[in-house]
Amino acid sequence: MVGYAHAIVNAQYVSAADLVGCRYRQVQRFVHPEVPRTRAARMRLERVAAARDAVHALLPARPARGDRQRFVRVDVPPVPHDTDPFPAEMATLEALASEANLITGAVFTGRSVGVDWRVDVDLLVRRPDGTYLPVIISNHRVARADDRVTTPVIATARLGLGGPVPGPFRLRHHVADGYRLALAARALADIGVDSGVGGAVGQDRSRAFLAPTGPLQPALQAALEQELPTFPRRVKECASCRFWPLCEKELVDADDISLYLAGDRARKWREEGITTVSALIEADLGEPSRLAAAWRDGVVLLRKVDEVSAPRADVEIDVDMEAYLDQGAYLWGAFDGESYHSFATWLPLGGEAEATNFARFWRWLMGRRAAAHAAGQSFAAYCWSNHGENHWLTMSARRFAGVEGVPTEEEVREFISSPEWIDVFRLVRAQLVGPGGLGLKVVAPEAGYTWEDGDFDGEESVNARRISRGSDAAAREARRRLLRYNEDDCRATAAVRAWLRAGVPGVEKL
Ligand code: SF4
Repeated sequence: MVGYAHAIVNAQYVSAADLVGCRYRQVQRFVHPEVPRTRAARMRLERVAAARDAVHALLPARPARGDRQRFVRVDVPPVPHDTDPFPAEMATLEALASEANLITGAVFTGRSVGVDWRVDVDLLVRRPDGTYLPVIISNHRVARADDRVTTPVIATARLGLGGPVPGPFRLRHHVADGYRLALAARALADIGVDSGVGGAVGQDRSRAFLAPTGPLQPALQAALEQELPTFPRRVKECASCRFWPLCEKELVDADDISLYLAGDRARKWREEGITTVSALIEADLGEPSRLAAAWRDGVVLLRKVDEVSAPRADVEIDVDMEAYLDQGAYLWGAFDGESYHSFATWLPLGGEAEATNFARFWRWLMGRRAAAHAAGQSFAAYCWSNHGENHWLTMSARRFAGVEGVPTEEEVREFISSPEWIDVFRLVRAQLVGPGGLGLKVVAPEAGYTWEDGDFDGEESVNARRISRGSDAAAREARRRLLRYNEDDCRATAAVRAWLRAGVPGVEKL
């Protein structure tokens, strides 16, 4: 059924990104085009532009020595996504008509199930049979090395000149990337030049990984057919969404239950007909109702147990790690109760610099442990939610096996499964409950800890890491912020531990 919301949407174009995550965003974007992008969204666009520049720098401009074939490359001048796509689409069609071997910046529009869509295709590559291969540039890791499978691959520098060769890689699927390729395939099919294959260049800018686009179509079709919501519902992405002030007002006016329980967390209650916070409180359902009331009263934490406690050791170290996407860990930080120690590399990840840095950190941590044991003291290293740290400790040992100072995987596993490696988040979760969650940024302020750089969140840290690799003032400032952010997380973890030991004064029993 095409509803009112669809009618609004049809006035403008839907992109692949609109089809992922909160679909009410699409409604708000069309009703309120005047709301500017958030800083985080602008930074994300900058990262996309940087990725495109990096790939474009590798693309062929002319045949290489020894290439005998004709090679024509057409660069369609870039157009911002919120401007009229018509000139770029015309330029794309002209480039296709000229049988160009490589087209950059292609744009298509189309219409499916009453929805007008637009897709920006970073690259179009002509195949010997005259059909085209759409290739998108993504900041995702689109494939992983894996000797057990093969995937067709074309070197970025040979796009438009060479054919695919099998490579030992396993593809990784990303929903938005899949929608883009599926839309591109539809557009190419409309003009009779679809190859049935699409490609993606991900974090490894040197290769395009290929896969059939047919299997991507059912998911795209379902997303296009999905009825748009007519009312917001708070989800995780609201926290960084430009429309939050508008949606929040609608939600508050309706006392919507998602204000308290975001996403699917309220599904159970909605199915029982409870759609507002007040209704949940009034239903008098025990803990769920009491927590909802606590949330409404602004209570941040409650005790689940009579007495809150935390382990203690003679020598205590709080550890926090920063990784960049899934490329590697560039910063290991530790607070020993007196000083903060950082082990950082600002060089590209995955090589000697990361390995040496990891070895330095590990040697230091194990040195402190050995010194404690030698002095007859107990030792504990703490971490807030140690999934990331455990992953990168293990992966670093695996990836850099054989480098001097790098522990074996077994040594790492032995340590992280020992009682000397303690997850403070687990301690908190076992003893406290919070209507607004139990993140470190929620719990540590209750323990009296405040961050120097309050606005610096995960997304900001990804941006800062990207900038930090330069040598100018902006890079130096980015490094300073990353170190400060990491130090704050280490010190905050220590503050929470101390507060747990003190019995969380002021926190009432549930
Ligand atoms: S604020 Fe939340 S509900 Fe509103 S459009 Fe954004 S993500 Fe969707």
